[in-house]
This record gives sequence, structure tokens and C-alpha cells, in this order.
Amino acid sequence: MKDPRSLCLSATSLNIFTKCPRLFCYRYLDEEKLYLPLRDNGRLGSQFHTLVQLLTPLAEAQRQLWLDRVDPKVKQWWQDFCRSGLDQVHYPFYSEFPLLVEYQGWQLQARYDRLVVKPDQYQIWDWKTGKQQETWQTVLYPLLLHWGLKIAPQMISVHFWYVSQGETSFTYSREQQQNDREQLDQALEQIDRLDFPQTTNTKTCQDCFFRYHCWGESLP
Ligand code: SF4
Repeated sequence: MKDPRSLCLSATSLNIFTKCPRLFCYRYLDEEKLYLPLRDNGRLGSQFHTLVQLLTPLAEAQRQLWLDRVDPKVKQWWQDFCRSGLDQVHYPFYSEFPLLVEYQGWQLQARYDRLVVKPDQYQIWDWKTGKQQETWQTVLYPLLLHWGLKIAPQMISVHFWYVSQGETSFTYSREQQQNDREQLDQALEQIDRLDFPQTTNTKTCQDCFFRYHCWGESLP
């Protein structure tokens, strides 16, 4: 078993921890199972993220050369993205901006799809090609920006743009930062105790790679 503090924790790994602590253990810590493959459900989503990064700074004629080569679904997402006006950015911005923060002996990381720096606000943007669901990004992204770049909470806003539903956003605050920190502390304490129970939501197990390992033939 690897030491959990040797991990670099991200919203993705914490999402897995929330979904099923046992799965988190198998995926990131149990050296006998780490090599087992995970399904790649995100190929088109990755393609869209790369496309946004590449095309945003380009002129329309140059964009078309790329758009002729991508999956039609990704092209449709890009066209919706443009209709939302997000292909035009009027302030300095960074794409795929990485941040690594050490917090109480833990390594925490985030990669921001887009970070826009306005005179009075830092906007975190994230592109979503899947359905809306709870994610540790809402906790970790503003928290790490606050800790890593020393940005005051009230100067941070978080924006998710869904290909299916458009934008949802919120402005960060000191109160939210306190709540998020407590939530993160609780998760880190549980990981530190190596407390990794199987999920009680067995619907999660239906398509899990480890279902036979956990349940054999008796999956409820
Ligand atoms: S089968 Fe279920 S309990 Fe086992 S790791 Fe997968 S999600 Fe967790």
C-alpha cells in the first residue's frame, strides 16, 4: 500500500474518493491493483478541451483548418461554445493553468481550463461535456487559487460551462472558503486513517472494474 501523502490529490481523485473510498484505494494506493485499466470515457471531452485551448487565440480562417479534422460532435460543441461568446476573451487569460499547493503535508493540484485575470476578479472557467453533477472542483479550484496565489476569496468567481446547459457560476467568499476547508480536512483525515469502506450505493458498482473483486457473483 502506498503512503497516501505521496499522492498528488486532484478534484478527479477526490471525486472518486467521494463516489467510493474503496475504489479510491484500489485506483491510487493498492499497488497490486494500480495496473488494472480504467475505462476511457472521456476521449471526446479531452478533444474538446484541447480544441478550446488551441482555437481561442486563432483567427476564424485558421480555426476552420482544425475544425475540419475533429469529430462532428466536438465541432458542434465548439459552435455552441462560440455562440455563448466564450471564444472571445477580453482580458488576460491562461489556458490549462496548473497549480500545485502543499497543505498540511498533502500535495493538492488543480488544472484550470481557463483562468481569466480581470482588474477586480479572477475567473476560473471549466468546460463540461458530461452531465451536471457534484464535483470537488467547486471546492478545490477556488481554495487552491486562494492558497496558491494568495487571491482574496471575494475576488474569485467560478464558472462551469456545460455543452448541454450553458453556464452556472458562483462568487467565492470567506464563509465558503471556511466551509470548503472543513470539508477538505474531513476527507484528508479519512484518507490519512486509511479508512476506505466500500460504497453503500451499489448502483455505483454496476459498471465498476472491481465489481467481481468486491462482490463476486453476489452484487446486490
Ligand atoms: S465494486 Fe463498488 S465497492 Fe467495489 S470498488 Fe467498485 S464501486 Fe467500490
